[in-house]
Amino acid sequence: MWQAIPRIGSASEALETDNFNRLFEFVQINDTHVQSPLGVAGELKPPHTYARANDKFTWWVDTVNCQPQPDFIVAIGDLVHGGRLDRLPGDFDQLKQLLKPLEPPLYTTLGNHEVVQNEGNPEYERAYRKMFGDNRVSYTFEHGGILFIMLNNAGATAVKDKVIHARNAWLRGVLEKNTAKEKIICCHIPIVAVRNEKTLARSFGFKSFHAHDAELLDLVDSHANSIIAVLSGHLHLTGFVMRTGVHHISIAGTASYPSDYARFAVFDNKIEMNVHQLPKDLNSAAPSIHGKTRHGRDFTDDTHPTADEYERGRSGERRLTIPRMRIA
Ligand SMILES: [Zn+2]
Repeated sequence: MWQAIPRIGSASEALETDNFNRLFEFVQINDTHVQSPLGVAGELKPPHTYARANDKFTWWVDTVNCQPQPDFIVAIGDLVHGGRLDRLPGDFDQLKQLLKPLEPPLYTTLGNHEVVQNEGNPEYERAYRKMFGDNRVSYTFEHGGILFIMLNNAGATAVKDKVIHARNAWLRGVLEKNTAKEKIICCHIPIVAVRNEKTLARSFGFKSFHAHDAELLDLVDSHANSIIAVLSGHLHLTGFVMRTGVHHISIAGTASYPSDYARFAVFDNKIEMNVHQLPKDLNSAAPSIHGKTRHGRDFTDDTHPTADEYERGRSGERRLTIPRMRIA
């Protein structure tokens, strides 16, 4: 009787096994900076901040719909550009139009641009809350046994201490209630520096190149045994650092070069992250905010020896295998 010879360890078999063991997938998007093409009263049109930002967003929506669709999307802030209180309603209207065709479920939290740095201020949060709901500010949801913690830290250090303490008190409660669950925290402002600290302070040019929030960092460190990753944006560059076993990942977003978003495939023992860059005509439409066009010079640091590695991240920051946690 004829018997097929088993193929052991072929690449295609590994892929099939991988696909078979895949539990779910999600996509991270942030820093798309959608802007209304219409000016507010008295203006002809708003300054066009990031060239073709709306085209890039439309490309991303089409691509996510057409690729094997993820189970859901986490949107980690600066979906709109805003920039001023009176521009927020128009920019959110524009975002609403562009989001209409998107098929997978979307979980959002706020970036500094959604509230012009005014975290916790009802007047500034109104446009975001009207579109996404009062239950989409700081909240959690669970998928496949992982608790996703959407943390609003949009004000970074530009807000009063009591806003920062309230944010951290909420997070502390969530972490202490869920010690036996694996967690992924999503917050707009990274809580560690993903480049050499002094260099990043210069190339980003704003104090919020990380959150400067020792209390928050301490909370994450002390629950490191159950936190897989902290996913962020804000910097418009892609980077990764490991701290006390927690993967701190910041994705550039689409508004300016390198114009990235990330896909995460979750297995029972690992998570595969792949950063995707928009096609050349779109990714080159607005230059990096960390390079020559803005600063008259490029930046590098001790672990990113070329300007492009500094802006895009090394290949090891764009493709990661993240082990799942074994919580005792
Ligand atoms: Zn941004």
